[in-house]
Amino acid sequence: MAKLQNVRGTYDLYGEAKRKMKKVTSVGSEVVEKYGFEEIETPIFEFTEVFSRNLGETSDVVTKEMYCFEDRGGESLTLRPEGTAGVVRSFISEGMQQNLPVKLYYSGPMFRYERPQKGRQRQFTQFGCELLGVETPQADIEVISMAYEFLEKLGLSGSVTVEINSLGDKESRDAYREKLVAYLRKHYDELSEDSKARLERNPLRVLDSKEECDKAVVEGAPLYKDSLNEASAAFFNAVLKGLDNLGIKYKVNDRLVRGLDYYSHTVFELVTDKLGAQGTVLAGGRYDGLVEQMGGGKVAGIGWACGVERLSMLLEADVSLPRPIAVIPVGEDVNDKAIEIAYKLRCAGFRVEHSYNGNLKKRMMKANKVNAIKAVIIGTDELAKGEVTVKDLDSGAQKNVALDKIVEELR
Ligand code: ATP
Ligand code: MG
Repeated sequence: MAKLQNVRGTYDLYGEAKRKMKKVTSVGSEVVEKYGFEEIETPIFEFTEVFSRNLGETSDVVTKEMYCFEDRGGESLTLRPEGTAGVVRSFISEGMQQNLPVKLYYSGPMFRYERPQKGRQRQFTQFGCELLGVETPQADIEVISMAYEFLEKLGLSGSVTVEINSLGDKESRDAYREKLVAYLRKHYDELSEDSKARLERNPLRVLDSKEECDKAVVEGAPLYKDSLNEASAAFFNAVLKGLDNLGIKYKVNDRLVRGLDYYSHTVFELVTDKLGAQGTVLAGGRYDGLVEQMGGGKVAGIGWACGVERLSMLLEADVSLPRPIAVIPVGEDVNDKAIEIAYKLRCAGFRVEHSYNGNLKKRMMKANKVNAIKAVIIGTDELAKGEVTVKDLDSGAQKNVALDKIVEELR
């Protein structure tokens, strides 16, 4: 048997790290629900083709990062590496196309066989959203502003830049591709081995390469904006104007292409300089051809996904739980009463730590250890008079309080 430890690139999440992730997803839900998005949960695994056919046969995810396995029935299944393909699969198979637009959000684990490093895991969590059925730039503006508001509510908008680009429609893409290939051919010898292969199969991906030698070549590559046809340029301008109108600052990044094949028109990333090479915390774009490619109708789509762990690492917000009340029975004969008081306080909304055993001194130490704000001390004599002692653990002040006045006193 393997050693008793977690698999490389996976983590046990608990304590503050888990609380931070919970904060990120709960703020995310709150924000996107205001825009009318509803939560969807799709299975963690799908038929392999759902991903292999739709993310792009030459994408990094499909060529080297997927966790594929054959189940006992001989089906080829894959642990989802991202959320969009599964959501669109569900959109089609559940017949949601009847009621457009459809707005969905999700959060949950994703799996990619990557080289583990800070901000790059083999199991990680994404929170993301998809807006299906809106072809106009209003969708792009709204979806990007929603991402921006989300980071703002997390207190992160100041340390994050919105980078944006347009890949245009198919005509623009083909035109660009031609220019790019001609350029890259001239620099063939300077490219990495991976990029030499990409040049034939999917040259756009060279722009996304993280290899230094490729980056140097990419510096001088033709600019995407020079290949946008009139309609695509107008679309992009409308998106940028919409963002200006909302006061959302962005940087047009001509090299931004995104790793997966299904994007068209707007692509964007929210990037921080605080996480080293893993600086992209949220990424998305328009994918107008995807639904059709997957066997559905001609339905436009746009969405984004964020790395919940990466966002959590940036989070400075206080995610500690409210300080509890300690309920401390003194003596065996008041145990039942202590349980009853703890129950009533919890029903009234307090966090309560009930101390189970030990003498008074030990129990008081425990109360301090859990950072209790006040202690409700239950002694036999006081109880006989219908009272308990409430002690402020910061000031040390204490007083007797009637049983039916405890909640009032603690509020
Ligand atoms: P990268 O360029 O960092 O590999 P990507 O383009 O593969 O990112 P997407 O598929 O766009 O990433 O996923 C959206 C977001 O999910 C990323 O911006 C990032 O925050 C997060 N993410 C992606 N892969 C990982 C991973 N292996 N570990 C942790 N977070 C990840
Ligand atoms: Mg990646």
